[in-house]
Amino acid sequence: MSRYISTRGETPPQSFADVLLTGLAPDGGLFLPEAWPQIGADEVVGFATKPYAAVAQSVLRRFVGDSFTDAELAADISAAYAGFDDPAVAPLSQIGNGFYLLELFHGPTLAFKDIALQILGRLFARALKKRGGRATVVAATSGDTGSAAIAALGGLENVALFVLHPKGRVSEVQRLQMTTSPHANVHNIALEGTFDDAQAIVKSLFADTEFARKTSLTAVNSINFARIAAQAVYYFTATAQLGAAPTFVVPTGNFGDVFAGEAAMRMGLAIEKLVVATNANDIMAKALNEGTYAAGMAQPTLSPSMDIQVASNFERALFEASDRNTAWIRDAMSVFAREKKLMLPEKVRAALSARYAAYACGDDRTLAAIAALYQIDGRLIDPHTAVALAAAEEVRAVAKGPVVVLSTAHPAKFGDAVRRATGVEPALPPQLKGLYEGVERVSVLGHDLALVRDFILGRSAAHGH
Ligand SMILES: *Cc1c(COP(=O)(O)O)cnc(C)c1O
Repeated sequence: MSRYISTRGETPPQSFADVLLTGLAPDGGLFLPEAWPQIGADEVVGFATKPYAAVAQSVLRRFVGDSFTDAELAADISAAYAGFDDPAVAPLSQIGNGFYLLELFHGPTLAFKDIALQILGRLFARALKKRGGRATVVAATSGDTGSAAIAALGGLENVALFVLHPKGRVSEVQRLQMTTSPHANVHNIALEGTFDDAQAIVKSLFADTEFARKTSLTAVNSINFARIAAQAVYYFTATAQLGAAPTFVVPTGNFGDVFAGEAAMRMGLAIEKLVVATNANDIMAKALNEGTYAAGMAQPTLSPSMDIQVASNFERALFEASDRNTAWIRDAMSVFAREKKLMLPEKVRAALSARYAAYACGDDRTLAAIAALYQIDGRLIDPHTAVALAAAEEVRAVAKGPVVVLSTAHPAKFGDAVRRATGVEPALPPQLKGLYEGVERVSVLGHDLALVRDFILGRSAAHGH
């Protein structure tokens, strides 16, 4: 039985399909499996020679329970990855002695979010069809989730998608990828303020039970557990291919991708350490290194998809680090909501330190990391990958086993930063051709909950929701 419980302990256990279609738990918490499914070391060894889709099937079937049959899951996985421009889906590429990039940007929107969302969109359509319902998906994005959600859900029947991005705080390519979608079910909102403001509005919409019921509201950002499950897969493929327990260095914003690494560890995968790499928005580095989780104002950097102060998925890590103490989580999250600050108890800190290390790096070092790798082997990387590369340089000297940097976006998505670092303009891959000829559709809204709510209700009504 695969059942899911909430980190806040006040939601009855749910099926995978329920979790997929609701996103956030009704008690405000995040869903996690009641018990982590296990994958033995022998099976992991076998993953080394299997295609990515086959490993994804082995991992995901343990999470879906009876929500989808093996055949349904296999069909959706194979369709999800058919469109990737590298048959390995998430290829490992060597950049030094025992030093690798795990390339996660070969999907339709050139960021790692495609890996989970291409499956999620398909499973979502399937689950809705089985239930005969409609859904309103609302996503706050720091840039890449928006376009990946649009690529996954654009044109689906029975789904209206609303994407809120912080106005003027995403790259030009990111904005165009979202706003030039031709699909009538896609609604872009450029919200005044920061990503954290947008995320706070989305959270308030979910807390409005009347609104949530009326619109069949759901979320596809990394609070949706299905994304974490799909992202755990590449930790398995990379570790199997290396044949040794790696240190993974993960460019981190909302803590979703790095928590997928914790999920893989809890399923039995041998990982040496998970390194959280942040830009100047270093709340996670401070929380892990100093034990104080305190949110400030998000500041714009060259790695905008990580310009986040409140890392939603950290709640999942805290839940596990506290031995699933739901009473403490409820209390801790209300303290944090009220005071924007939380002191981590020593026991929780120790549990986190056993698994995670953390480093922060500013824009100067981000640019230097892009330039340094370009000089060594002529390779261009995007600024998010560069933040992780800078952190990896700190851990390489002491790391046991291979070091793997998660490369989360294609350099062409962040051409300005790459040009500043190297003087070279990354070539536009085929996925971005024609982007500048598209017609933009976007509504600019003030940072106001009622405005956003009414906008969504108005547009949903127009769709017959
Ligand atoms: C979203 C994103 C990240 C951060 O991932 P989280 O799961 O939010 O920690 C890093 N790099 C890129 C390119 C992204 O789009």
